[in-house]
Amino acid sequence: MIDARKFYLNGQWVEPVSRKEFPILSPVSEDQIGVTILGNEEDVDKAVAAATEAFKSFCLTPKDERLDLLERLLKITKNRFDDLAWAMTKEMGAPISMSRDSQADSGIGHLEGFIDSLREMVERETLSNGDILVREPIGVCGLITPWNWPINQIALKVIPVLATGCTCVLKPSEHTPLSAKIYAEIIDEVGYPPGVFNLIQGDGPTVGAALSAHKDIQMMSFTGSTRAGTDVSRRAADTVKRVTLELGGKSPNIVFSDCNLEKRVTESVKECFLNSGQSCDAPTRLLVERSCYIEVLEIVKRAALSQKVANPMEEGDHIGPLFDKIQFDRVQNMIKVGIDEGAELLVGGTGRPLGFEKGWFVKPTVFSNVTNDMRVAHEEIFGPVLVIIPFEDEDEAINIANDTPYGLAAYLQTDDMNRAERVSSKLRAGAVHINGGGFNYGSPFGGFKQSGNGREGGKMGLEDFQEVKTLHFG
Ligand code: NDP
Repeated sequence: MIDARKFYLNGQWVEPVSRKEFPILSPVSEDQIGVTILGNEEDVDKAVAAATEAFKSFCLTPKDERLDLLERLLKITKNRFDDLAWAMTKEMGAPISMSRDSQADSGIGHLEGFIDSLREMVERETLSNGDILVREPIGVCGLITPWNWPINQIALKVIPVLATGCTCVLKPSEHTPLSAKIYAEIIDEVGYPPGVFNLIQGDGPTVGAALSAHKDIQMMSFTGSTRAGTDVSRRAADTVKRVTLELGGKSPNIVFSDCNLEKRVTESVKECFLNSGQSCDAPTRLLVERSCYIEVLEIVKRAALSQKVANPMEEGDHIGPLFDKIQFDRVQNMIKVGIDEGAELLVGGTGRPLGFEKGWFVKPTVFSNVTNDMRVAHEEIFGPVLVIIPFEDEDEAINIANDTPYGLAAYLQTDDMNRAERVSSKLRAGAVHINGGGFNYGSPFGGFKQSGNGREGGKMGLEDFQEVKTLHFG
């Protein structure tokens, strides 16, 4: 049994004030595999007090020392790499190969990106008018992370805190407490001063809400649903905190007939299903030029039917289950919604894939002949569900792509680089992936519109955690 009942406060593993236990369930067997504690407001107050005290001295740590600590963090993260991968496979069902290659790898990749950016960052500079500009850590930060990319999100928030000289209280999703516990062990081994990093397990409505409203926290960094993100912003408003949000998406993937259809469409389907579709920037709306629509349907069908679903403990490029019954029910409901609203079911459907009687496994599902006003086309499903929408020309493709409250990512498949530039400039999204170009560690990640604000990763991800002070000399 996994025991995640202690919190990491002020450099110690301590018994929480709250005694409210919460079971950790396997997404494969549905059995209880561990237990954690849902913290309460008193636990939050203790953690914030520790972070506030620690900030007084940690904020003055010279850049060289912060870089040395980050290099040590890198070494120890590498040592615990397999533990992190295993934990995420157990707690949220990411297949072990993907858990190593992408999930745990993000803990190292983002850290290397932040180290490079911090090294290059000028924290004190003289402006042309003679004034001096100083970049300082913003203060105590409340960090709330979700269950879909547990270490990716922790790395994108905790590392800039440590890099800039801030202090923090982290609340991971209570469904994925184990990877967060291991990350706290790593930070403990690095030897950060007590109180710089604090970990509280707990739920959003209690611990998340208390952090968002806390008077001694200067910044909230949140990743999750738009619903919870707006709640964090509202609660943070009274104390005028800085709030950065990384929220949902319904990313368009525009396929023009001039691309290598077989390759680009097959990879697009795989990318949509990666992590069982539980990624905020997944390319879930395939917009297809009418002239190649029938051909693309055939390629999609082949690719989706060949998508294996299997036990996440097995090596391979299959997908695993969804993380929990809550998500399974949400996705099943949305598949039903798609059928009811008249979308054509090309592959998959409701229920578990053949051979699975338990666990939160879902059939990879594709709807064709979808129109952008259908719920399956504009609501985030967060499961292995792809919708296909035809378009006549470039202008219509851009209109459909932008016809969403979200703006996290967009994908483009075309061999015409002039068109790629032209269309990219008109897409309202924080990232445009062209012909399979993937995210590189060190680049900023974040969204337009209701996908959030702020940018995570690299230089911009550090700047979000800094205040700027100007010195005017008489
Ligand atoms: P939530 O947004 O509810 O959960 C994400 C994190 O926010 C969790 O740590 C959660 O804690 C916390 N939280 C929830 N409510 C509040 C609140 N009022 N104040 C502060 N923190 C809060 O997402 P769900 O898990 O409910 O998933 C719902 C949908 O959200 C998914 O289907 C998906 O569409 C989207 N989502 C998007 C993510 C992304 O990467 N952008 C990540 C996860 C979900 P707790 O677990 O206790 O609720």
